[in-house]
Amino acid sequence: MSEKRFPLTKPQLDELSLRYPTPFYIYDEGAIRENARALKKAFSVFPSYKEHYAVKALPNPFILKILADEGFGADCASLPELRLADMAGIKGENIMFTSNETPAREYAAARDLGAVINLDDFTHIEYLERTAGIPELISCRYNPGPLKTGNAIIGKPEEAKYGLTREQVLAAFPLLRDKGAKRFALHTMVASNELNVDYHIETGRMLFDLAAEIKAKTGIRLEFVNLGGGAGIPYRPEQAAIDYDYLTGGLRKAYDEIIVPAGLDPLGIHTEWARAITGPYGWLVTRAIHRKNIYRTYIGLDSCMADLMRPALYGAYHHITIPGKETALLTETYDVVGSLCENNDKFAVQRQLPLIEIGEQGDFVVIHDAGAHGRAMGFNYNGKLRCGELLLRPDGSVLQIRRRETVEDLFATLDRVALEDFKNGE
Ligand SMILES: *Cc1c(COP(=O)(O)O)cnc(C)c1O
Repeated sequence: MSEKRFPLTKPQLDELSLRYPTPFYIYDEGAIRENARALKKAFSVFPSYKEHYAVKALPNPFILKILADEGFGADCASLPELRLADMAGIKGENIMFTSNETPAREYAAARDLGAVINLDDFTHIEYLERTAGIPELISCRYNPGPLKTGNAIIGKPEEAKYGLTREQVLAAFPLLRDKGAKRFALHTMVASNELNVDYHIETGRMLFDLAAEIKAKTGIRLEFVNLGGGAGIPYRPEQAAIDYDYLTGGLRKAYDEIIVPAGLDPLGIHTEWARAITGPYGWLVTRAIHRKNIYRTYIGLDSCMADLMRPALYGAYHHITIPGKETALLTETYDVVGSLCENNDKFAVQRQLPLIEIGEQGDFVVIHDAGAHGRAMGFNYNGKLRCGELLLRPDGSVLQIRRRETVEDLFATLDRVALEDFKNGE
């Protein structure tokens, strides 16, 4: 079971919405920090641990700065993500650059920042050498193929486009050494939103086995292994969150059985979680503006899937609560929908909820677990403007960390001068 909390009361939301009209995202800084500390404490059973928050999940430098304060680095996959990490003050090897189909200029940018480059393919050794050069510290992404079963979102590893095969990994490290690399790391990412802790422990065991094999066959001693992201969160109230101590206990046992006898202790343990770091501590706050009765009853929000597309994209469940009606009976069955001209623009389908008041002063509708892969996945289809982001500080104050988009933002990439000429037939 997981408690579906929201940090503000209905009167607090009434007041906040005068300053910042709905819809908006709000993130709870205190809860994010507390979670980060709990994760670090659980991983302190290892001689060295580093979490690189995957920037794509919540690409806001205010959030990255909070995580940097807690000792976390960043995992980036593109040039703008590298810039965001840099903007937040995350430097050098605290940045992991896990990209794929990478253009040369992005490798160069990662090298200039001193980020750890994580190669996605064997052919990138030669590509990197020719473009940015082989750095002293280099990582390879391992795809175990049929050696590991997949999970629901990411699919089977042998059908995934990422990473090197086992044979390629074993050949890559000696080649990189010949080309001047001196420090080595191994990475994998085989799951997404996986709540089964044993699955993550098995992933660690798999990397430890390969680290031992690399040492035995090539004499190369890895500096760290990166278990990737993919830790799940309990989107549904009846699910339970990952038990951090159970996870690190299981990983430590595998470390003692494989890494210590292989003479690889101390080996750094890295992760690049995102969903489990911020997901439960962000909410999309909307207002119910319409109710429509046809074959079903629809509650229309002042938001849409442009702000949060997981329900439309994957049929993902996001819990919904109505501030001020937390204990009200769930007497109604609603489809809770947005304003996009797409019938899958539904935040909830046939959901049991309390009676919802509509209108300018209608009920707030809070969509939970939107703190990762939420606003970041938004888009502008149908001319929809994405909402802004607020940060609830530990002292109870609220800081706007991104304003909402304007129509001018939407048109910024159009050449208006050329348009006037075009209309005049010039
Ligand atoms: C998306 C991604 C992550 C973070 O995934 P979560 O499921 O949010 O933990 C980490 N590493 C890589 C390479 C990713 O693509």
